[in-house]
Amino acid sequence: DYALYYAKAQSRGAAVLFTEEHERLLRTQSVIEQALRHADLPREMSLVFQPIVDVRRGCTVAFEALARWSSPELGPISPSVFVPIAERSGLITRVTAVLFSQALAAAKAWPDRVALSFNLSMADIASPQAAAGIVSAIRTSGLKPQRVILEVTETALIQDVAQAQTVLETLKATGISIALDDFGTGYSSLSYVHRLPLDKLKIDRSFISEITTDPASRDIVTSIAALARNLKLACVVEGIETAEQSRLLEGLGFELMQGYHFHRPMGFPDTLRYLDGEAVRSVRPVQAVA
Ligand code: C2E
Ligand code: MG
Ligand code: MG
Ligand code: MG
Repeated sequence: DYALYYAKAQSRGAAVLFTEEHERLLRTQSVIEQALRHADLPREMSLVFQPIVDVRRGCTVAFEALARWSSPELGPISPSVFVPIAERSGLITRVTAVLFSQALAAAKAWPDRVALSFNLSMADIASPQAAAGIVSAIRTSGLKPQRVILEVTETALIQDVAQAQTVLETLKATGISIALDDFGTGYSSLSYVHRLPLDKLKIDRSFISEITTDPASRDIVTSIAALARNLKLACVVEGIETAEQSRLLEGLGFELMQGYHFHRPMGFPDTLRYLDGEAVRSVRPVQAVA
């Protein structure tokens, strides 16, 4: 019977395709790992910076540093691809060290009121030695630790909550702030959020993309805001792409926002122009155009 034959052929086809896809993926990952292993990290790695704005005060309070890798052999590779590979292959601490020193140098050029928000991986906080490296990099740079926010994800913390707690407390004691990134996704566990010495929650952008159309997303975001208030944590909303989303979130009481609606991530020279423009805008009242 033709229908049955067709279904079988299709499912066999799918199985073949799956295996090929899988093999190609593994090959790709090992190619990327090899390229990363041999990379000239300081030359190939760079950062772009995205403003985190206080919508109430109308100014930028921080830039989040976002890694960019341009491999001579492979071309540009997204951090959502290479960071997990660097983590699995034990290369992430070298990558972090290179990026963090670039980030600290950039932040030195910004005014005091603008903080640096930097993403860490689990290996970066897995041991007291790793944490000491972060502290000493800040000391070497001369940047005030109070101007550094470290973003960590739940996945990174859940591995060993007690260890994470100790390491984060060491970091915090120097004046650094800690933000929990991508809050609400995947490994969310409310049972340990209050045990960690956090300063901020960053609400994942997956909730924001549907906030104006999906009441459930809005409810989740409202609940996270209440949780943050109870735990006395600040809240940053990321992934805001439209004025409508921004207005709605402001109505819900959020002040700290980040997303393409405000600004895309930019190269370092643009951060200086951007901050200059902001200073000019804030001293001169906005003129109505006739
Ligand atoms: P993340 O820390 O949650 O960073 C936010 C991501 O969302 C960034 O992607 C940013 O470019 C993107 N984004 C910002 N605003 C919007 C928006 O309005 N709409 C949409 N659709 N996207 C927006 P990016 O730069 O590709 O980074 C992806 C992830 O890679 C980061 O997620 C972070 O987990 C990781 N990552 C980036 N840089 C580093 C780094 O230096 N170290 C480590 N360990 N991880 C990094
Ligand atoms: Mg982040
Ligand atoms: Mg995030
Ligand atoms: Mg994210």
